[in-house]
Amino acid sequence: MNAEARRAELAQHLDEVRGRIAGACTAAGRSPEEVTLTVVTKFFPASDVRLLAELGVRHVGENRHQEAQAKAAECADLDLRWHFVGQLQSKKAAAVAGYAGVVESVDRAKVLGGLGRGALERDAVVDCLVQVNLDADAGAGSRRGGAAPDDVPALAEQVAAAEGLRLRGVMAVAPPGEDPRPAFERLARTAALVTRVDPSATWVSAGMSGDLEDAVTTGATHVRIGSAVLGPRPPER
Ligand SMILES: *Cc1c(COP(=O)(O)O)cnc(C)c1O
Repeated sequence: MNAEARRAELAQHLDEVRGRIAGACTAAGRSPEEVTLTVVTKFFPASDVRLLAELGVRHVGENRHQEAQAKAAECADLDLRWHFVGQLQSKKAAAVAGYAGVVESVDRAKVLGGLGRGALERDAVVDCLVQVNLDADAGAGSRRGGAAPDDVPALAEQVAAAEGLRLRGVMAVAPPGEDPRPAFERLARTAALVTRVDPSATWVSAGMSGDLEDAVTTGATHVRIGSAVLGPRPPER
């Protein structure tokens, strides 16, 4: 596909997604301005990021450090804010804070030292969300990312106290194969506990291509949309 055709396709998908967000906001009695769209560009080339920037996208998300770092470097001339949404290795945390304006997947204290160091090295403050595991068995050695809801307030305190980091709120992925609505309602309750740690930590990042309406209805302030904008991803490598 040539660049013009790809641009038209991305523009149409973006319109559709923005329309879905606006519709869900109207239905919930919220203003669309309350919801920030982050387009998750993992597996798609920097040329797509560039087209998205031309189409008005300001927030882009990535879930793998190497790919994110390379794309952020290729797109350094654009006015973009990079959101890291993937599993964070403590060895890589400082490097992630070298380009990410927002790290949405803080799920244990072990990554905070590296993130803070990376932020200070570039004289920045990195916005952090505590990732919440919404699985029914979150405490019992669940394999997916995220802190168990009971552990979130203590971790939020540690983020709030860390130099170079700013506690902004929470992030979660709905458990697959479950109705997302009750899961997002659990997330809203955990989010309320985090605002007790810092009243300005009001961000709730929830909602992907398949469940953004449920997320907006239950109070999401940020949605992370990949395939509904970029098309189907190639299978996981
Ligand atoms: C890939 C990804 C998304 C986007 O998923 P889609 O279903 O393609 O919209 C959102 N959040 C995280 C954490 C992701 O890894």
